[in-house]
Amino acid sequence: MKKIGFIGLGNMGLPMSTGLIKAGYHIIGYDLNEEATLSLKKAGGEIVSSVAQVVKKSELILTSLPSVKAVEEVYLGEGGLINNANPGKPLVDTSTVSPELNVEISEVCKKRNLDFLAAPVSGGVIGAVNQTLTVMAGGPKQTYEQVLPVLQVVGENIFHVDEQIDSGTTVKLINNLLIGFYTAGVSEALQLANKKNLDLDELFAMLNVSYGQSRIYERNYKSFIAKDDYKPGFSLKLLRKDLEFAMELADDNQLDLPISKSLLALYQAVEQEGYGEQDMAVLYEQVKKQSNK
Ligand code: NAD
Repeated sequence: MKKIGFIGLGNMGLPMSTGLIKAGYHIIGYDLNEEATLSLKKAGGEIVSSVAQVVKKSELILTSLPSVKAVEEVYLGEGGLINNANPGKPLVDTSTVSPELNVEISEVCKKRNLDFLAAPVSGGVIGAVNQTLTVMAGGPKQTYEQVLPVLQVVGENIFHVDEQIDSGTTVKLINNLLIGFYTAGVSEALQLANKKNLDLDELFAMLNVSYGQSRIYERNYKSFIAKDDYKPGFSLKLLRKDLEFAMELADDNQLDLPISKSLLALYQAVEQEGYGEQDMAVLYEQVKKQSNK
């Protein structure tokens, strides 16, 4: 499979598709945002103007979309993938959406004899650029094996979690619940350092070799807090979305997670303050504003 359709050329989709171009694949890209399509064109991809054209020209289609609404539209909408797809052209959604939506799309695909895999990714923009993402795929093993060579280009650690379509999403939501905690932890702990006039670079050097170390501390501090620049990255509103899905998953499984619930409320409040489009690391700035008594 050398002709790959890619729908959603944002912070993740653009570097993922660029990595595939570098590996010799022909990418047929589609995005509602013209700037995103121009960036793919610059990287050597072909741009088309509808989902139907993506399907027509591709042997396999990947999607990286920001919301349930966008995934519903692209897969289930009138001009969407399922109405245009043909058996033998697998559809792989790398977005993080609700487990229910994975199941809904999978059921419709089964009726139409289409192969579908829900394969969310982790590792952020840097992982997409370096082609080192972790992929957590749920769905038929046969489809997974068929698309594995392509997943191995975008990522380094590729897992087939289970035949259950939403199994990869479950793993991903657990991952992002932890990201939510780490980001909040870093945001508060560093206020104590500020209050005690510690040098944050020196603190990082010490904690990076201590148990306080985490990849999220490194990411949030080095790439955002230290630079005082919160261009995403991974926007705070996308993390809030994932925390909502994680809480729904807990509710659906009769699980009470009160600390996680207050974590979600924190991100929801910060998004309402207008920080949603910035990287999740911006939580540090909001906590900074509120923590001084
Ligand atoms: P993004 O908002 O940067 O990009 C999404 C792209 O999809 C945008 O270019 C947008 O124009 C396009 N789009 C939206 N609706 C569309 C439609 N109907 N048809 C065609 N294009 C459409 O988001 P992102 O950060 O790239 O994230 C994409 C997905 O990957 C999300 O589900 C997110 O949760 C997940 N994810 C993101 C990261 C990260 O670090 N950014 C990491 C892992 C997973």
